[in-house]
Amino acid sequence: MPKSQHRAVVTGSTSGIGLAVATALAGRGIDVMLNGFGEPEAIRALVETIGRDHGVRCLHSPADMSKPAEIAAMIQEAEDKLGSVDILVNNAGIQRVSPIEDFPIDAWDAILAINLSSAFHTIRAAVPGMKRRGWGRIINTASAHSLVASPFKAAYVAAKHGLTGLTKTVALELATSGVTANCISPGYVWTPLVEKQIPDTMKARNLTREQVINDVVLAAQPTKQFVTVEQVAATALFLCSNEAAQITGANIVMDGGWTAA
Ligand code: NAD
Repeated sequence: MPKSQHRAVVTGSTSGIGLAVATALAGRGIDVMLNGFGEPEAIRALVETIGRDHGVRCLHSPADMSKPAEIAAMIQEAEDKLGSVDILVNNAGIQRVSPIEDFPIDAWDAILAINLSSAFHTIRAAVPGMKRRGWGRIINTASAHSLVASPFKAAYVAAKHGLTGLTKTVALELATSGVTANCISPGYVWTPLVEKQIPDTMKARNLTREQVINDVVLAAQPTKQFVTVEQVAATALFLCSNEAAQITGANIVMDGGWTAA
């Protein structure tokens, strides 16, 4: 694959959907900055593998997406070391399942900060460069929960609904600048984020693990199948293409029919 003139930052890309998106972008010859948490040795191996396999520059930023100053510094570092941020994928996210009356206040604050406010901060920092160059792609990983709610997920549902509002606003502001802004809204994808919420869902709904997987998770999706990280990554690649230049302010839903019901 020839080197692309574009460079990308993908937040929350040390596992799950973000890692698949970052790997797919690297597969198109795009230099990429990973971000997210993990074992230092595992992250070093990821960076090396992606860089070597795809012949691109791959970096990692440990910036905490709940900390505005670290977010701004990450975008600056990407611009300094990669040369630009042309593709920005806001993907970092966490989840908490709890009845509203017990919902921990620190979990509410963290989910709103990481799943919503971080996108405001990255976009704010990356847009001046995109406008100057007259090209940019902002892709925000929302969720089927940007359109519908589920019990016990107050903060996540609120954050994902908010993310679509932010995305539409930015799309309108940037409409004539060559920069598009869109959401991708997957249904359930089998990742650590889903795995981690199973015990709390069992408790909140008084169900077994199997019942949660079959009667809550898969039951939400008429196709009765998980969305895959590769399917989400393929959609992100399409949104980065010039063929997708007129798609802006959209929420691309890939949820096995969940929100059609
Ligand atoms: P994941 O747990 O595999 O990945 C989350 C990533 O975010 C990891 O790299 C993690 O290190 C990073 N992260 C967490 N907190 C962070 C912080 N404070 N600062 C920086 N990075 C941080 O989960 P995933 O399912 O791949 O989730 C990725 C995105 O997809 C999230 O925004 C999630 O809401 C969204 N999503 C997931 C599903 C699903 O079913 N898995 C469905 C719809 C949307």
